[in-house]
Amino acid sequence: MIKAFENTALCYPDRIAYVTDGRSISYKDLCNLAKEKANELEAGVPVVLVGDKSIEYLSYILACTMKGAPYIPVDPALPTARKDALCLAVGKCKYIDCISGEERFLDGEECLLPKDCVYVIFTSGSTGAPKGVPITKENLESFFSFINAISPLSDYNACAVMNQASFSFDLSVADLYYALGNGHTLVGASRAYRENIALWLDALKSSGAKVCVVTPTFMRMCLLSKDFSRENFPELDSVYFCGEVLGKPIVKKLWERFEDLKIINAYGPTEATSAVSATLVTREDLDSEKPLPVGDMDSLATKVEIIDGEIVLRGKSVFGGYLNVSSSACRNENGENVYRTGDCGYTENGRLYCTGRLDSQIKYAGYRIELGDIEENVRAAVGDADVAVVALRDENGSVKKLRAFVVTGEGYTPEDIRNALRERLPEYMMPQIIVTDKLPVNENSKLDVRRMSQ
Ligand code: AMP
Repeated sequence: MIKAFENTALCYPDRIAYVTDGRSISYKDLCNLAKEKANELEAGVPVVLVGDKSIEYLSYILACTMKGAPYIPVDPALPTARKDALCLAVGKCKYIDCISGEERFLDGEECLLPKDCVYVIFTSGSTGAPKGVPITKENLESFFSFINAISPLSDYNACAVMNQASFSFDLSVADLYYALGNGHTLVGASRAYRENIALWLDALKSSGAKVCVVTPTFMRMCLLSKDFSRENFPELDSVYFCGEVLGKPIVKKLWERFEDLKIINAYGPTEATSAVSATLVTREDLDSEKPLPVGDMDSLATKVEIIDGEIVLRGKSVFGGYLNVSSSACRNENGENVYRTGDCGYTENGRLYCTGRLDSQIKYAGYRIELGDIEENVRAAVGDADVAVVALRDENGSVKKLRAFVVTGEGYTPEDIRNALRERLPEYMMPQIIVTDKLPVNENSKLDVRRMSQ
């Protein structure tokens, strides 16, 4: 991918590579900036990169990739305790904060990184600490070949690609590497744009983007704006969805406003490099009784099997194990990495379907969250307490709220607990707090999740 990027910088130096917050930079200038920054880095030494969508931030990502220094993208909105936990896991590294300008070396144990690691994205872990997913050059190349073959993405030539996700969320791997590896213009949406749909839609309109890469949750918010219609977005040709269930109401509304829009439903976990399957949604899919498919079995990034109803991935896109957890690597006798996704699924007529989770991992507003992660942090915030966290869902099955039941004899109020939690958890993981003298149980003496979720 980085070679393709450098090649575009050589052949089309003045083409715009990146636009963000009203600023833009050409391929040549971005490539030179990245090369300059690469000179400041050391191959193999991880770089914790705090920042959002600035040109400088992107140039550091590219610099790390050029140099062979694994980067760890960190959202600046993360609470300090979570940022610290993440730095502790990475250990000895360079720390660059593109917002404050702070740059320093952090000392610590050298973390166990695979050879040719390109980046490590941290995701929610049920133990209460985020877990690092190292992605190698081979993983990324496998993903890059896969996304480049997806129709209609493979047909576009020098177009604008609209980004939504933070660079610390693996959905952005799709737009970043697809756009810059194919000579397109990446349009980066900073936090201010992500939090204000009107601004984001303005950026989409003025960029004339042909494709946008978003979560279904974000698209639901876009559709609240009446301006989001074919008349105002004549160039929008396709939307690439990934990261959570794509509900039929979203597709239906999109086609009411953009009759000819191509809708790609992609599926995959961070552990298998952003996405492993994708399919173009059809009118028949919308009319069928089944959920929308998430992939075509003849054009996968890696091998996909259904074992006991669970989607299991193996091959080149699959990571080799969590950061510093040597026992988490799973290889089969052929030396292939294997990952059990925890997603239930099945295949039918050459399409892949994902029907839910086998565990308590959820998606809330597009974010992947382990309910155990919140529970552990509530416990840590209030000392020893009995805690249970549940997800409340709307009529379509989407999570609309998180709720924590807390049994603590210490006289904490919900406000005390929320204040303590705010220092440990990002805003999207904050639950409603209910202080109680015992956790609700049903007639079988099990946690009464149904009652707790009402
Ligand atoms: P993440 O690691 O944040 O990308 O989250 C991966 C998880 O998101 C998967 O294991 C699925 O549970 C869910 N997911 C991703 N894409 C889809 C999709 N198209 N449809 C349903 N669930 C999805």
